[in-house]
Amino acid sequence: MKNLIVANWKLNPSTQKEAKALFQAVKKKAKVKNVEVVICPPFAWLAEGRRQAAEGGFILGAQNCFFEEKGAFTGEISVLMLKDLKIDYVILGHSERRKYFNETDEIVNKKIKKVLSANLKPILCIGETDEERQAGKKSEVLEKQITGGLKGVLRENAKTVVIAYEPVWAIGTGNNCSVDETMSSVLFIRKIISKIYNREIADNMRILYGGSVKSENSGSYIKDAGANGLLVGGASLNAEEFIKIVKSAE
Ligand code: PEP
Repeated sequence: MKNLIVANWKLNPSTQKEAKALFQAVKKKAKVKNVEVVICPPFAWLAEGRRQAAEGGFILGAQNCFFEEKGAFTGEISVLMLKDLKIDYVILGHSERRKYFNETDEIVNKKIKKVLSANLKPILCIGETDEERQAGKKSEVLEKQITGGLKGVLRENAKTVVIAYEPVWAIGTGNNCSVDETMSSVLFIRKIISKIYNREIADNMRILYGGSVKSENSGSYIKDAGANGLLVGGASLNAEEFIKIVKSAE
């Protein structure tokens, strides 16, 4: 199985010119053996991303989508639109969506099912807050987010789901999770998946780590913590640094 490195550009960059330059800089050097590189730009830059992804070097992903296909839902984007743009992956349930847009496990679950029905691959983000971690509730939170997010998802569809373990306290803080703690969380996530589906699906599911990943720490999550890749926020906006991260996953 190839390692998966996902760039989450969030609400950046602000101009099409900058987005174009960033796509180009990554594209030139992102072809690395055994690594699948996915760039998830804001919706506004997806069409530019499509043009550039067509030349190879990276795959295109989206940062969100709605659970209805069409109709009176102002400001939303549908899986049909994403499919038409040949998007492969969709990030769902990111902690920023949960926090600022009140996305619950139920909403995330509806989105996951919709994405799977369109044959796109969901990246389900889960992770505990600092408060929950301090209160010893990490396992409980992760289990709830996994079972809630995957409720009703059939075994044959579960195979295409990617899980991103992103402790909320590690996102954008510079305070990345230790390799040991990540390893135990990855094992715990596989245990839950095994309980819901079976051992084979759990062993083959791609589980990513995300939270203040930099080129200095990226390789260890894959080599030592058992993660199958990374979800990279801030560091993905610097092409040189992002390429170093991609190379560390080779
Ligand atoms: C993220 O947004 O998913 C993320 C991990 O951000 P950062 O790498 O900036 O912590």
